[in-house]
Amino acid sequence: MRTSRGLFVGSGTLLFTHLHKDHYDATRERLYLERHPETGLWGPELNARGITDYEEVGDTCRFNCGDFAVTAYSTRHSGTEGEACSHYSFLVRGRLTGETFFISGDAVFDPALADEVKKDTAGSTNGTMAFVTAYQLIEQPSRDFLTRLAPARLILIHQPQEDDPASRIVGGLMEFARKYPPSGIRIEEPAPMNWIT
Ligand SMILES: [Zn+2]
Repeated sequence: MRTSRGLFVGSGTLLFTHLHKDHYDATRERLYLERHPETGLWGPELNARGITDYEEVGDTCRFNCGDFAVTAYSTRHSGTEGEACSHYSFLVRGRLTGETFFISGDAVFDPALADEVKKDTAGSTNGTMAFVTAYQLIEQPSRDFLTRLAPARLILIHQPQEDDPASRIVGGLMEFARKYPPSGIRIEEPAPMNWIT
């Protein structure tokens, strides 16, 4: 983000699930938007920009940004910090391509939400690609959610950094998740994205 490399080469819309510092940095956001003023933005407690057709139904927000339609579901952050954190998970649909992507953030899922998300993925041309964390692959409510959602692909994100004291714990969770994936779907692990800075 700082160097506009990788995912940040082009400009589109920046979506933030929540504002914890391992997901969001206000200075980088400001500098990026100065360099790419046409970029849209949406996240809890942020001043949205570059989005259209915004509507709220209950806790769910829907809007368009460029060629994508976004549904933002209000979800609970995992762990004890969940209460204090405004957190959303996203379904992103290509308006022209029909591809759907589910971005979980750090949510612990209520399995009942899967039915709502499934409705929104109807007609998906790629069967939905879901980005999930190791925690979501081992916590039973989140596993039940993923089983009901039945995405075509599960991509593991939020891999531990080598200098992270929790990396051995997360490594153990990942080992379990690889052996016992929910819905029997093989988990895909991209190379650690340490270069996203
Ligand atoms: Zn977090």
